[in-house]
Amino acid sequence: MALAFAPFANGGKRVEPIFITRIEDRWGRKLYQAKVEARQVLDPKNASIITDILRQVVSRWGTAEDVSTRLARPVAAKTGSTQNYTDAWFIGYTPDLVCSVYIGNDDPGVPIGKSGGEAAGPIFADFIEEALRDRPALSFQTPRGIERAEICHETGYLASPGCPNTRWELFKSGTRPIHECPWHGSTFPIFSHSDPLSLFSSQVKDSALESHSERPLP
Ligand SMILES: [Zn+2]
Repeated sequence: MALAFAPFANGGKRVEPIFITRIEDRWGRKLYQAKVEARQVLDPKNASIITDILRQVVSRWGTAEDVSTRLARPVAAKTGSTQNYTDAWFIGYTPDLVCSVYIGNDDPGVPIGKSGGEAAGPIFADFIEEALRDRPALSFQTPRGIERAEICHETGYLASPGCPNTRWELFKSGTRPIHECPWHGSTFPIFSHSDPLSLFSSQVKDSALESHSERPLP
């Protein structure tokens, strides 16, 4: 699983795992040096956007908020929990290290009773903290063709000054939202079938229309 997530941290490159990196004789002469084999398996822009999404898992919006408070370095992750909390997963990475943690019980009838973020997340955090203790905190690199935009957390539109919760997200150039949030902004909302808000439940959409119906047309 760590191998599968590594390309997200590695600009879309898959690197074959190496167990033995180097062999020397008693005099320090090199007898063997492993070759690093990497191949591009993912568009670097897609890898960067996936990383950006997975960074939100370890933010206040995600299922592993506690991990972010324990690590003073950028990290992205995915939590996983099976039915009835029988198994717990946590797969996370920094720009220089990927770590996968699994917790389960040999007897599936005895669940561990905790989610991936709760059970496996702290183990991941402890390992990363120790393994990278002497390494600088690296930032995830953003390739060309990617731009950032601040969006409304609730609607996904461009953030307006009135949006109570916003976050920055990465987009491929030319694909970021271009309209300001109609729920919290000053512009009167225009709903259509192509509008992302049409994906919301009718109940939520109706309440949005109702709350804005009292606003004057610009
Ligand atoms: Zn908003």
